[in-house]
Amino acid sequence: MIYQRGARGKRAPAEPVSNVDRGSIDAPPVYFSRMLAVETHDDVQRLNFSTWRSRRAGFSVSTFAVRGVLIDCAFDGVGAELMAWIAANPVAGVIITHAHDDHGGNAERVARAGIPVQMESDTDALLRAPRRRGWHRKWTWGRMPLLTSPVTAFKASGLELLPARGHSPDHYVVWDADRETLFAADLFLGVKVKVAHPVEREDVRQQIDSVRRVAALKPKRVFDAHRGLLEDGATLLKAKASWMEETVGRIDTRIAEGWPDASIVRDVFGRESFFAYTSFGDLSCANFVTSVRSTYSR
Ligand SMILES: [Zn+2]
Repeated sequence: MIYQRGARGKRAPAEPVSNVDRGSIDAPPVYFSRMLAVETHDDVQRLNFSTWRSRRAGFSVSTFAVRGVLIDCAFDGVGAELMAWIAANPVAGVIITHAHDDHGGNAERVARAGIPVQMESDTDALLRAPRRRGWHRKWTWGRMPLLTSPVTAFKASGLELLPARGHSPDHYVVWDADRETLFAADLFLGVKVKVAHPVEREDVRQQIDSVRRVAALKPKRVFDAHRGLLEDGATLLKAKASWMEETVGRIDTRIAEGWPDASIVRDVFGRESFFAYTSFGDLSCANFVTSVRSTYSR
């Protein structure tokens, strides 16, 4: 497999592998293991993947099995666990919501195994394009094989991919209209998310539009890729849009007054997020302000 640029070198020794159902009394020590925890919510199974590295960085990520398909394919570090789950639970195909490491990280493994994939052309292009990835992303998620295999396209029945850009230039959510269920990918994450990726990869203003548009669907259930089933997700989405609008308004006011970005970060967010240090600036409040400034004249 071809790995992303800047990701050459010897692969680290594999950690002990385990597929652990939540509640198993035989679960190995969490710190060392790769984990797959499975939760069932009526017609939806949440598969929550993590490794000790991702947990150290503060992350796990979920894929969702519904209507005989899998939504997203997790990250490189849990590729073996993902493929083992699919082998034991055959799916009609895999939907990929966006090309981030923790959502499309196993696209190549899935495609190479001949499993059909539904994704939009911008996600496909990003997964096939070699990109520089910061070492923290490689450390947290793994090296992420480049998508080089041909993809067998499919269209999941009863599920729709809706554009919801902003979090990334290729971000989509999955909507099950009959069951009024939203698979929000990374649209939500939290009400007050103060950090953003660099300006070329995240657009804060565009994200507000996406959150508003998706909230207008009035979903009865919202599954978040990092938090699972949200309690009253529709209300949380509206609260997020309101908080973002208010925050962007405060930043706009200070831009109009001629404030520099660093002063705006201090005044609006108090202090820079710890993610800015652990991610070497890949996720930061400063990026949030830069995104707002770069779209200021809109
Ligand atoms: Zn993402």
